[in-house]
Amino acid sequence: LALYHKLREIIAKINADLTVETLVKKTGCDGLCAKGPVIKILPEDVAYYQVKESDVEEIVEKTILQNKIIERLLPRDAVTGRRIKSPKDNEFYKRQMKIALRNVGVIDPDKLSDYLERGGYTALKKALFDMTPQEIIEEVVQSGLRGRGGAGFPTGRKWKQCAGYQNTPRYVLCNGDEGDPGAFMDRSIMEGDPHSVIEGMVICAYALDSHTGFAYIRDEYDLAVKTMSDALMKAREAGFLGENILGSGFSFDIQIVRGGGAFVCGESTALMSSIEGKVGEPRAKYIRSVERGLWGQPTVLNNVETWANIPVIINRGGAWFSGIGMPKSTGTKVFSLVGKVKNTGLVEVPMGITLRELIFDIGGGIDGGRQFKAVQTGGPSGGCIPGELLDLPVDFDSLAKAGSIMGSGGMIVMDDRTCMVDVARYYLNFLAEESCGKCVPCREGIKRMLEILNDIYRGRGQAGDMELLLEICDAVKEASLCGLGKSAPIPVITTIQYFKDEYLAHIRDKR
Ligand code: SF4
Repeated sequence: LALYHKLREIIAKINADLTVETLVKKTGCDGLCAKGPVIKILPEDVAYYQVKESDVEEIVEKTILQNKIIERLLPRDAVTGRRIKSPKDNEFYKRQMKIALRNVGVIDPDKLSDYLERGGYTALKKALFDMTPQEIIEEVVQSGLRGRGGAGFPTGRKWKQCAGYQNTPRYVLCNGDEGDPGAFMDRSIMEGDPHSVIEGMVICAYALDSHTGFAYIRDEYDLAVKTMSDALMKAREAGFLGENILGSGFSFDIQIVRGGGAFVCGESTALMSSIEGKVGEPRAKYIRSVERGLWGQPTVLNNVETWANIPVIINRGGAWFSGIGMPKSTGTKVFSLVGKVKNTGLVEVPMGITLRELIFDIGGGIDGGRQFKAVQTGGPSGGCIPGELLDLPVDFDSLAKAGSIMGSGGMIVMDDRTCMVDVARYYLNFLAEESCGKCVPCREGIKRMLEILNDIYRGRGQAGDMELLLEICDAVKEASLCGLGKSAPIPVITTIQYFKDEYLAHIRDKR
């Protein structure tokens, strides 16, 4: 924000008559975190990266007033090494396709008018006045959109099942409790384009005849809570939310609930318990939330990214969306690409792009001239994928076949200095701390696995430890109550599967 205020101050000094409000705009994250903060000058399409407050005056003087490019402030492309003037020339942006992130980094999230100028709330109007609830659900079914929060359940099917239960009220929930280490996809959408989430939720509510929604946002996300709260207020004032939306006779409102501060609160049933004011603990899922979710009523819960896709699907059609990506993993996916990669940041790509393209073309390859070793996909309970599988397409099924998961889109790249036993230890340590302790396999199993991993790492490993680890992995996977426990063994299984030599070396070369 310091840059934004400095820019406004300098422009106002040059000509007090200029409407600084319309000339200078602050936006959400541009995506290329490695090179922020960014100042973009439009329509010339010049972008300066890693700008300091002391650069602002020169940018205004030379580029805005004299139309000259300041070479030293142009970044070098991570792949080509060339200095780049326009973001369009940068490999980081070239391969991306933005649907969920379409407005992030483009609009001022505090201005409803910015969202409207980009076609905001036209999908809601179309849904309310030109479509029946069944047609809306069918459009989402046809899109093939799968939930972006981790499980990948088909969104349209979920809505259809919920609509099939007659008891009312029904609830529409947004999961913004993003807790995976290294993940910030949902946060960027809530901070950069909050109305896309709200619009998606209102469309679903109309399709399900729901009148109450909740956006459950991670407690640490202060800016996201503020941006979403402001956007809800503005949407209400403009008639897109609340009583008698746009004169249609349909009413729906959304309330924000701050997360309970535990990773497990991102699990669907724990999230609902937390909204109900109870301890955020998961429950067994033999009763599905679409039938008996929040307060025992039919409930649809989708995550932030899933909601942001809905307005585009309604406007452009399910068939259009299903033509992007892979047959069983349609559309695009947002990833937070972090770790030992040159272009760290937020990327949105069509499903099916390979890991190699993501890490080496978009990400610019490994930082500091090191070698690639592994990429961990899917958050703390995701798998570590080795170099031999770099040509693996990134979609729900291919990642599952390789032993990993899509998760919500965290992607951590590791270089040749990384110890894979230590990586497994790190994630298990995280999961041991975040396990709610309700069921024995997860509560005790993760701790036992961690003890064995610690022993191996510290040179106290024994022959047979890996077999024992895999045996416990099976038990934890099979018998745990919720997704946290069921997927906790994945980092251990994949590191043993792909990096067995490192385990053996630790056991053999006792320190
Ligand atoms: Fe809690 Fe773990 Fe059991 Fe889930 S699997 S209910 S986090 S103890």
